Amino acid sequence: MEKIEMKTPLVEMDGDEMTRILWQIIKDELILPFVDLKSDYYDLGLKHRDETNDQVTVDSAEAAKKYGVAVKCATITPNAARVKEYDLKEMYKSPNGTIRAILDGTVFRTPIKVKGIEPNVKTWIKPITIARHAYGDIYKAVEIKVDGPGVAKLVFEGADGKVESVDIHKFDGPGVLMGQHNTDKSISSFARSCFNYALDIKQDLWFASKDTISKKYDHRFKDIFQEIFDNEYREKFEAEGITYFYTLIDDAVARVMKSEGGFIWACKNYDGDVMSDMISSACGSLAMMTSVLVSPEGVYEYEAAHGTVQRHYYKYLNGETTSTNSVATIFAWSGALRKRGELDNIEALVSFADALERATIDTIESGKMTGDLALISTLPNIEKLDSKGFILAVRENLEKLLGGN
Ligand code: NAP
Ligand code: MG
Repeated sequence: MEKIEMKTPLVEMDGDEMTRILWQIIKDELILPFVDLKSDYYDLGLKHRDETNDQVTVDSAEAAKKYGVAVKCATITPNAARVKEYDLKEMYKSPNGTIRAILDGTVFRTPIKVKGIEPNVKTWIKPITIARHAYGDIYKAVEIKVDGPGVAKLVFEGADGKVESVDIHKFDGPGVLMGQHNTDKSISSFARSCFNYALDIKQDLWFASKDTISKKYDHRFKDIFQEIFDNEYREKFEAEGITYFYTLIDDAVARVMKSEGGFIWACKNYDGDVMSDMISSACGSLAMMTSVLVSPEGVYEYEAAHGTVQRHYYKYLNGETTSTNSVATIFAWSGALRKRGELDNIEALVSFADALERATIDTIESGKMTGDLALISTLPNIEKLDSKGFILAVRENLEKLLGGN
């Protein structure tokens, strides 16, 4: 079989620990035998980040901007223990945070559905995608622990000298205080990323907040979404037969529970943090989620939603057998290759990405899976495979689907 030719490179961001091991096996077994891979490679492994003073992370994000599509392996976000373990020059920031700050995007996460692992909510026959706003609100808040009586005020000093002040509360005794913010710019980017992604995957978009209670703050989110929708997206949505729907967050939660899935649920930062954990737990495991960062300019960065699986890596280093789930990392590759194929009009690459995902799902549905899934699958004949064994089983199915090579 001839290898599929690519036109534009995709940006490859290699990572750490067990996922770095999986990364290489996936490339060797599932990508390189079939695709003449053009990649602009960046090693975001912690050692190399340290050697470059983290410049490599910035360079990889700039490359993603240049080429439009990236695939990223999970990476270590260093803490004090890691600084010691890797003898780091400093405690570098989270690579995902750095990349997100440069691309300014929204992360979309969708459970990967397979037979034998049914969601806890029976009506969810189609996956629900969570789009989480990744800027501001309580994550950038300032707080005061009030020790005794006094008055709290919210004050804004305009650059033009105008001052606005409102009383928050007159304290009779101890209590707590918080000041949060968001910006029209960030909310607008969030809205555009959501509308673009809905058009991309042709699914309805839901957005919810608490605008009845928060008449200025949450209401601003609602208004910005509506304005951008009416001015820039309404016609495009109508042409695709999809809808944009706003409701209150509590109504949204009730509707989600009774829905059959198959839509995108845009959430403010905190709601998205909490609800994405609910959706992923209800659907089995973080290793069975796709995750893609979409920038308002339309740059796509595909990744796995889980971490570097440190505990398995230390077992691997000890020569013990591991059974680490590679599905999310495989889907990061298929997502990036499909997007590259779509942008460059390479039908064979799009079909290959489809086949790779089909082969992965077929493998699990035939009973062959890693240990994490073996524990929760309801299939009758389960064969638990090790990390590499699973990827080899996927390859076998992939070759069948592609007609042998
Ligand atoms: P983790 O990699 O998410 O793994 C935590 C546990 O979840 C594992 O020990 C394992 O449970 C299970 N698990 C996660 N992914 C799995 C998979 N693919 N297959 C099978 N089991 C899986 O978190 P961590 O090990 O605590 O964190 C390691 C590093 O990841 C940290 O340094 C953190 O900074 C980084 N991290 C990176 C990202 C990212 O780059 N996207 C995201 C989160 C965390 P059992 O041990 O019970 O089998
Ligand atoms: Mg969380």
